[in-house]
Amino acid sequence: MNPPSRPGTVLLTDHAWPDDSVERSVIEQAGHTLVTGPAEPASAEVIEELVAEHRPDAILTCWAPVSATAIGTVPDLRIVARLGVGLDNIAVDTATARGVWVTNVPDYCVEEVSDHAVGMVLAWTRGLAVFDREVRAGHWNPASARLRRLSTLTCGIVGFGRIGRATARKLGAFGSRILAHDPYPPRDAPGVEMVGLEELLRRSDVVILHVPLTPGTHHIIGAEQLAWMRPGGLLVNVSRGGLVDTDAVTKALESGHLDGAAFDVLESEPHVPAELLDQPGALLTPHVAFSSDASVTELRRRAAEEVVRVLAAEAPAHPCNHPAGSGDRR
Ligand code: NAD
Repeated sequence: MNPPSRPGTVLLTDHAWPDDSVERSVIEQAGHTLVTGPAEPASAEVIEELVAEHRPDAILTCWAPVSATAIGTVPDLRIVARLGVGLDNIAVDTATARGVWVTNVPDYCVEEVSDHAVGMVLAWTRGLAVFDREVRAGHWNPASARLRRLSTLTCGIVGFGRIGRATARKLGAFGSRILAHDPYPPRDAPGVEMVGLEELLRRSDVVILHVPLTPGTHHIIGAEQLAWMRPGGLLVNVSRGGLVDTDAVTKALESGHLDGAAFDVLESEPHVPAELLDQPGALLTPHVAFSSDASVTELRRRAAEEVVRVLAAEAPAHPCNHPAGSGDRR
């Protein structure tokens, strides 16, 4: 049974942007009060103290830990809404047991991450990063160019979910042959050939990872899988660093078996191994594939709207749990 709607208090535990204006506007327009914690994610203990002090009906969190203690402190807590996708900073099981919704925003950056992957592919086929570094170092040497025609290449996409499908659509528009691998292949994927992982690695010039990191996908690309790849290819990882054995990639770049490795994420991030930095074929960005002004604004608005929905006794749009007593059986 849904409790009646009434003005509530919403605690924003932290924020990875300069202010709380977007969250505040959505929450206050619905008649609720927003209390904002420190911008930088505080410790679990500090968040527990904030929860004990403000006794929120809802928690919005970016990276700060929302512990079982925090969730258990307030009997009236109705929702913990994540400003992002992953839930590893939230005690989801405790929330579920106590009838508290947990939500995320799973699809706010599909265009950004797929654009980032395609941008990395184009940077490699056209030598953008390598030539930019050379020109800045005083070398103007067009005769050294060994560039590629993207429309003749085969691109293999590992993980054919929301982002993988967007990347396939965009690379397909460049004329590339598209292979994809997913344990749950779609019923039909026009213009895309679904294959096993080994076949994808053996046939692709470019391999792009769009899989979640789980115990089953940790180091899905290691020395053996790199050896299956065609000599002179490109590996793109815009998903999670732990999918790739970085040492094995560094060795494959050193030997020339791999021509390029474009990573937005690293298993050691924010630390970047010096051996990887030494490789001219490495193209690195600091976990920004999700980011654009539009995606971040959308993320903030949609996370706050989940709070408003639940405080109005409606079901959230993107529930990540089935809270006890909610009647939710999805
Ligand atoms: P999604 O859930 O829509 O798709 C993931 C796909 O991977 C699913 O189709 C699933 O069946 C498939 N999959 C699972 N295990 C697999 C395996 N062993 N081999 C092949 N496929 C497998 O997720 P999404 O929205 O497309 O996001 C994909 C990943 O992108 C996320 O898990 C996240 O790690 C990453 N991501 C990164 C950024 C960034 O800023 N770099 C931003 C958002 C998401």
